[in-house]
Amino acid sequence: MPGNELGTVIRFLDLRRERDLATARANALEGEAGRDALTGLLDRHAIERRCNDLFHLGFRTMAVIDPDHFKRINDRNGHSVGDRVLKAVAEALEEDGVSCAIRMGGEEFLLLLRGTNAADGAERCRSALSTRSATAVPGLGHLVTASMGLVEHDLSGTLDVEFAALYSHCDRQLYAAKRLGRNRTMRKRLTRFNPEL
Ligand code: GH3
Ligand code: MG
Ligand code: MG
Repeated sequence: MPGNELGTVIRFLDLRRERDLATARANALEGEAGRDALTGLLDRHAIERRCNDLFHLGFRTMAVIDPDHFKRINDRNGHSVGDRVLKAVAEALEEDGVSCAIRMGGEEFLLLLRGTNAADGAERCRSALSTRSATAVPGLGHLVTASMGLVEHDLSGTLDVEFAALYSHCDRQLYAAKRLGRNRTMRKRLTRFNPEL
């Protein structure tokens, strides 16, 4: 092959390698963006971007799950053990076709669920986090429990508008569950005719 043709081929190969590298980097960023570094769950930012899609796919049950007395776990066992518990909690909430799990921040998690058994599914996640963390982090000395605030609704429209309002309803239910003694779920059904939003 004449020298100038060889040079063209090498330049072409270099350009192709640069392009492939750039694509790989973009894909990696796409995969990581919107994921919480500790648990790998979607983060708050990601859910705020995707909530309308989920809403239209029928995810109309929202639950906020908050481990009870988590500060004590850190205080008694250290922050890194607390981190391992949070990972185990996230595993118990893992997404499937009917639920989507989000780490909202700190020790607070959100589930968006669909289907007629959505509330039961959320309840199963809440109890699974106790067994999951006991297995993953033995020697804690007590079972990790969590409280949950759950809201079911048949509202239509865009979740963009309603996400914050639904979340604050869940938060109020969660607060009630904490006040009543923790390790329990408080729930509320909102209807189109009684949205209280
Ligand atoms: P409550 O039952 O009322 O929810 O009590 P709590 O102790 O769980 O709640 P509080 O809000 O008082 O404390 C939350 C604790 O969660 C304090 C904070 O240090 C801990 N925490 C938040 N994010 C992380 C994290 O990423 N890793 C660890 N290990 N701890 C965290
Ligand atoms: Mg807590
Ligand atoms: Mg909390």
